[in-house]
Amino acid sequence: MDELQAKEFRKACDETVVLLLVDDQPMVIEAVRRQLAEMHDIEFHSCADSATALAMAESIEPTVILQDLVMPGLDGLSLIGAYRKNKITGGIPIIALSVKEDAKVKSQAFEAGADDYLVKLPDPIELIARIRYHSRSFVTTRQLDHTYNLLRASQQQLLDTNLVLQRANSALRRLINSDGLTDLPNRRHFDEFLQAEWRQAVETGSEISMLMIDVDFFKLFNDEYGHLAGDDALKKVAAAMRETITDESYLPARYGGEEFAVVLPGMSRSDAELVGNILREKVEEIGIPHHAPVPGAVVTVSIGLATLKPSEASGSIKLIELADKALYLAKRRGRNRVVIHMEGE
Ligand code: GH3
Ligand code: MG
Ligand code: MG
Repeated sequence: MDELQAKEFRKACDETVVLLLVDDQPMVIEAVRRQLAEMHDIEFHSCADSATALAMAESIEPTVILQDLVMPGLDGLSLIGAYRKNKITGGIPIIALSVKEDAKVKSQAFEAGADDYLVKLPDPIELIARIRYHSRSFVTTRQLDHTYNLLRASQQQLLDTNLVLQRANSALRRLINSDGLTDLPNRRHFDEFLQAEWRQAVETGSEISMLMIDVDFFKLFNDEYGHLAGDDALKKVAAAMRETITDESYLPARYGGEEFAVVLPGMSRSDAELVGNILREKVEEIGIPHHAPVPGAVVTVSIGLATLKPSEASGSIKLIELADKALYLAKRRGRNRVVIHMEGE
């Protein structure tokens, strides 16, 4: 709660009766003042001029108004209507003061917006009881409104804080799960993703394909062009991976060093081979010059592919091992190619 809210709240909780008597007869004002003189919980204000009554009510904000019905100039009924329409005084209880018990006048007073009706001069006990009753119900409603508003404000604050936390959380998650150099999902994310997909595939009985990708002769590249140029080449390979694997159900990741991996849940061996070849070609097409021991060399990748139907018995590590084996064969068979792991190889 800030300073202003605290002040408003103290005001809302103040149970003092603030009474405004509007009557053109000084005698009536004096008589009521005397009747209330001993009542220390009642703060008495009076106004004899109907032209200034509304402005006075706006400035002192009474908790109850005693309003004479017959006044010169603006009469009591019109004043009651004016209090009701006003933003500040609209909710304040109004007790109409009449010279006589008259059913017609009474109903006009209630129609205009009065809450109660008393004939002048009422018995002091009745007058005080009614003043206290109306004031208390007004103050209670005001307190409830205020408490409700504070509650709403603090709920909103909680929602705002929650939103900030959620954003910070997702930024943190991105940071934890991505690789600093290439911005691809990192090894940690890869492991989590593979585990989750593996468990699901055990249940559904579907297959999972994996590509293991390794940059060819990369040590030579670093030696020739420097580590920074090497970093740049890795970023370009990562970009080619992102361009090739756009479906969110697949995960391209940096596995470590100059090795990358792609998890392809639900993808058949032949489709995965297609993906592998598109990726291999895309890297070659970038055309990053290389001093590899092949004529006209550019940076290329070798890819090992394995496809498995997960079972309870085998863990996801098996898929990585098989894709790794296939990658090793791709290197042995001359690099810049996709090799599929086949049983018995
Ligand atoms: P092969 O074709 O058999 O894979 O040969 P290679 O030279 O690529 O294989 P090797 O495993 O001997 O070398 C990998 C090199 O990759 C060595 C290492 O310095 C480099 N490397 C690993 N991570 C990074 C990196 O983040 N940035 C740079 N610039 N180089 C890296
Ligand atoms: Mg390597
Ligand atoms: Mg390599």
